[in-house]
Amino acid sequence: MSFSDRFAQHQEFFSSNTTRDLTWRKQQLQQIKRLALENEQLFLDALYQDLGKPAQEAWITEVSYVTGDVDHVCKKLNRWAKKRSVATPIVAQPGRSFIKPEPQGTVLIIGAWNYPMQLILAPLVAVIAAGNCAIVKPSELAPATSKLLAQLIPQYLDNNAFTVVEGAVEETTALLALPFDHIMYTGNGQVARIVMAAAAKNLTPVTLELGGKSPVYVDESANINITAQRIAWGKWMNAGQTCIAPDYIITTKNMIEPLVAALKAQITQMFGADPKQSESYGRIVNQRHAKRVSEYLTNVDVETGGEFDIENRYIAPTIVINPPLDSPLMVDEIFGPILPIITIEDFDSAKAFVKNREKPLSAYIFSKNKQQCQAWINEISSGNQCVNDVIMFNAVPELPFGGIGPSGMGQYSGKAGFDNFSHLKSVLVRPFLKDLPVRFAPYSELKFKFLRWIR
Ligand code: NAD
Repeated sequence: MSFSDRFAQHQEFFSSNTTRDLTWRKQQLQQIKRLALENEQLFLDALYQDLGKPAQEAWITEVSYVTGDVDHVCKKLNRWAKKRSVATPIVAQPGRSFIKPEPQGTVLIIGAWNYPMQLILAPLVAVIAAGNCAIVKPSELAPATSKLLAQLIPQYLDNNAFTVVEGAVEETTALLALPFDHIMYTGNGQVARIVMAAAAKNLTPVTLELGGKSPVYVDESANINITAQRIAWGKWMNAGQTCIAPDYIITTKNMIEPLVAALKAQITQMFGADPKQSESYGRIVNQRHAKRVSEYLTNVDVETGGEFDIENRYIAPTIVINPPLDSPLMVDEIFGPILPIITIEDFDSAKAFVKNREKPLSAYIFSKNKQQCQAWINEISSGNQCVNDVIMFNAVPELPFGGIGPSGMGQYSGKAGFDNFSHLKSVLVRPFLKDLPVRFAPYSELKFKFLRWIR
């Protein structure tokens, strides 16, 4: 069946109103949970094949992330889907006003490769919760996971409502020509522009989950060992291929030596003396990306790490001190296990450093100084933030997830995801009681005066 036939089939099914039924939605959501749980080992194997993902990491960030999401959404769905009453002013009285969340139709979900299971199924959970049909397109750069999703989704979910399309640019381009009711894209900013241009042709709303350079500021008051442990975990998980991983650290001169020592100790503690042999350390997704990341090491001072083996897609956990700010390492999103540390003067210059660059997806601060932390929250614009940790906001189901400016638009996770894929329809309901004649023609001085008075 062609893509446009599948799309037409979903639109027809959507018109049958089946997806508006909360019981149907919950059944489909429970099926996603079954899909993840009953095939857990197959997913862990596929994620190992695609990214050398250690099983524990794959389980926490992909399998259990999705099942936890289903549990949370199913618990809250009745409340989110209820009409939301608002006050009705005198001019519209007597009457009742409310917001009725309604599904949008058929949504296209285009996933990225770094969390290839989560980035298809978590958006799908939000899309189903809101009562939509969907066509999903997993990333071709994680082929084992893409294949598994293509095999399992038709077995578990209602085929009238959901289709998986495997493929790359050609298939995605063909899908983007269809008049979807919403497009959700996760990936890089360049392709996001292609997606948005295609969506504009059909006036389709888009949710864009993108990346960027997420900074970490470490202040002299921070607990150095806890700071290093949390940063090391967030940076070197999935070999640095996490959109909300710390991209680089900014800190003062006095902090460089103790921070580097603590980070080195964490690398050894987490991955042993030779991280290449560690079962807790992943691989780069393919040789092209491994080569791209390795090239960031040209003409910079490597403090620790720096070894790479492109053929086996390995790049060591690496720290680089004060690379030139105009080097590719400090211009591009690294999306790999290299951690630059930049010296800055003080907190004000740290803020200026971040403010003078594109708005990042995340911006982290480690400090015991409450005023500084508050100033960071108040003044630094980013998709998300953590104070004294990295990434962990993502473990809070009711915190919306999404970027700002170049790091994305639209949000999902929890209620934000439900609202994002719903249309929040405004409704006013009035009885047949006779109206005061003021709003109707013929207009008069008296009616005008009265209107001014009641406003
Ligand atoms: P990718 O190469 O897997 O591309 C993403 C999707 O775009 C794929 O499904 C691919 O088929 C499609 N695509 C590629 N070229 C296309 C084209 N010309 N036309 C239409 N579709 C096309 O992933 P990527 O872009 O390398 O992903 C890495 C980026 O994604 C990083 O910037 C990262 O920060 C970001 N990211 C963001 C999030 C988030 O939730 N904000 C999550 C993961 C990754």
